[in-house]
Amino acid sequence: MGEIVLDAVRKTYGKTLAVEDLTYTVGEGQFVTLLGPSGCGKSTTLNMIAGLEDISGGSITIDGRRVDELPPDKRDLAFVFQDYALYPHMTVYNNMAFGLKMRKTPKDQIEARVRDAARRLSIEPFLDRKPKELSGGQRQRVALGRAIARRPSVFLFDEPLSNLDALLRDQTRTELKQLHRDLGATSVYVTHDQEEALTLSDRIAVMSKGHLEQYGSPEEIYHHP
Ligand code: ADP
Ligand code: ADP
Repeated sequence: MGEIVLDAVRKTYGKTLAVEDLTYTVGEGQFVTLLGPSGCGKSTTLNMIAGLEDISGGSITIDGRRVDELPPDKRDLAFVFQDYALYPHMTVYNNMAFGLKMRKTPKDQIEARVRDAARRLSIEPFLDRKPKELSGGQRQRVALGRAIARRPSVFLFDEPLSNLDALLRDQTRTELKQLHRDLGATSVYVTHDQEEALTLSDRIAVMSKGHLEQYGSPEEIYHHP
């Protein structure tokens, strides 16, 4: 589960061409980074994979089903946003439980999954707090925990570490890699940071001005003669 196929994907905003001719496959369980400078179309691509943006041409499927034809609650994916996007009036527990409640997950399962995710991210002590009572790093862990509690086949990350200081960023990156190994889900990760892409990825999609420049393993992209 979790194979993503992009076929001749194009996106325009009015007269602006945001991305064009994106064709590649993200294999089941792979960690794939979309790498490139600001404005090259990374977020647009990720948002289309998530079904948050319409696709202007071509198609994106997850496990053979077009994402733009599935209702949001049937999409087997979780999105981690750069600004965390936590619900400010809800406790950490309820932030993590919300997506599961929406999908009518039984209550005992919700509690088990939230506890498991909280344990993996060491945020159990904060379950009864509100986001404003947490540091930036703790909020980011809650955002990751909320995604993990959903147990999707696909994780989508939009620059999730960019608001953290350098030390925390390194720690969280290492943990993210370990979590990816433990959970076995497919991950698509947007960054403009080459080092992040190198350390995290099975495959890197190098983008420039809305086009795919290269698609390959870190070795293929950085060590070819
Ligand atoms: P990146 O994530 O690599 O920084 P984006 O995907 O955000 O790039 O943007 C790709 C291009 O699409 C840019 O030229 C940007 O200005 C344009 N774009 C993105 N979102 C919109 C929007 N909502 N309306 C108009 N243009 C947009
Ligand atoms: P709601 O606002 O959705 O009614 P509550 O905060 O009243 O949510 O909690 C509903 C249920 O969620 C509780 O009965 C409990 O099972 C679970 N729950 C809430 N907070 C925690 C927590 N910190 N630890 C474990 N379970 C919790």
